[in-house]
Amino acid sequence: MLLKDKTLLITGVLMDSSIAFHVAKLAQEQGASVILTSFGRTMKITQTIAKRLPSTPPVVELDVANQEHLDSLAERLREHTDSLDGILHSIGFAPQGAFNFLEGTWEDVATALQVSSYSLKALAVAGLPLMAEGGSIVGLTFDAKFAWPVYDWMGVAKAAFESTNRYLARDLGPKGVRCNLVAAGPIRTTAAKSIPGFEQFERIWDERAPLGWNVSDPLPAAQACVALLSDWFPATTGEIVHVDGGVHAMGQ
Ligand code: NAD
Repeated sequence: MLLKDKTLLITGVLMDSSIAFHVAKLAQEQGASVILTSFGRTMKITQTIAKRLPSTPPVVELDVANQEHLDSLAERLREHTDSLDGILHSIGFAPQGAFNFLEGTWEDVATALQVSSYSLKALAVAGLPLMAEGGSIVGLTFDAKFAWPVYDWMGVAKAAFESTNRYLARDLGPKGVRCNLVAAGPIRTTAAKSIPGFEQFERIWDERAPLGWNVSDPLPAAQACVALLSDWFPATTGEIVHVDGGVHAMGQ
């Protein structure tokens, strides 16, 4: 079992379509203990969905835009565990205005950057007091090397997220903590459905993925997250692993 005796903090379980749900399920199947986070009105939904996992994990409140939640996270986690071996960041949000590049306001963009980019650093620092030597932080990105249709300021936020991953790798490496991202192809989740014109990504992946791509299958991305959370990438940090059917490597 890849994650035997490991304890993981997994953010981002909203529905059973959430990528994080599939990471949590696979992690439990691979021997890990899991603690979920959720926030506000979605707490109840996450608690219900958590019951669909092989064993029902505790759900701790965390809004990554709330500094009090972040400051008290380690203390509140201590009710469930003395240490963490890994953290999954599976959080993304941008107001609708951010999906129009020329019209998006700074307010829209600031929210997107705070919740979708800065939050990787905020979550890492909040969890650090419990993080064991050899620990692993994993996040999810959508390849930010390109200007995509409709992704707009969320694309800019993902570029900042990818850079944040590299700086975290620099600063957490000496503490024995790795930080890596999985760049997933499009998957039909709640976050994806909130992107106007998401079907354009589906068309691009249909045409360009040499391995093919199934927008209804979050498992390949979840498997990569579990692998990066395990001890099998001990010398890898600041990396982005593409789980996109090969689209990132194609010229057309
Ligand atoms: P999802 O809607 O299931 O998950 C997004 C999660 O972010 C939700 O659980 C939501 O509660 C959480 N969230 C939003 N604002 C938050 C806040 N302020 N504090 C704490 N949590 C907050 O969708 P998903 O597709 O599973 O998204 C997970 C990650 O995967 C995101 O970073 C997303 O950008 C990334 N990703 C998704 C795709 C895709 O096509 N679905 C592709 C590549 C990367």
